[in-house]
Amino acid sequence: MRSIKEMLASEGAVLNGHFKLASGLHGAKFLSCAKVVSEPSHAEKIIKELAKQFHSERIDFVLGVNEAGAILAHGVARELDTRFVLARASESGFSFARGFSVTSGSNVLIIDDVTTTGGTVLKLVDLCRKVDANVIGVGLVATKGLRELNVGCRVAILAKLDDFDAWPPESCPLCKKGIPLNG
Ligand SMILES: [Zn+2]
Repeated sequence: MRSIKEMLASEGAVLNGHFKLASGLHGAKFLSCAKVVSEPSHAEKIIKELAKQFHSERIDFVLGVNEAGAILAHGVARELDTRFVLARASESGFSFARGFSVTSGSNVLIIDDVTTTGGTVLKLVDLCRKVDANVIGVGLVATKGLRELNVGCRVAILAKLDDFDAWPPESCPLCKKGIPLNG
């Protein structure tokens, strides 16, 4: 059976170019989880793998954000027979999407696709703590370079990718060469 890392590499999920990442950093590679979740059988494999990491926990909500993250979080909620909740980026960080909320004192599992610096995960943790929910775990498909994420709960990472250097725009070697950013 192929590992998640092998699957990501072989499904064309790794794009080469000049990208502005969610963290604001620039990188020469981009991991497109959309490429993976657009094939439901691949999404299913990732979902089962993420759910397995947390099957022994009592979870009331699985929280996801953005397109691929939400699809995966929804699948994990189904696997764990619990509820799904959606967050959206807003001007002040993240908020729960209209119609979604978590209850105070509930146990939340955060699912996200890929992280460079962990910024999104930290904001989602804050969002949960603001409403007094307990973040009991974080499940990530992949990290780029980042080996550890200290958010005060268990973090499960399915694939740790190497060779995904990222730079602040002002020291980006691709910007220096005048290479335009990919759309
Ligand atoms: Zn650049």
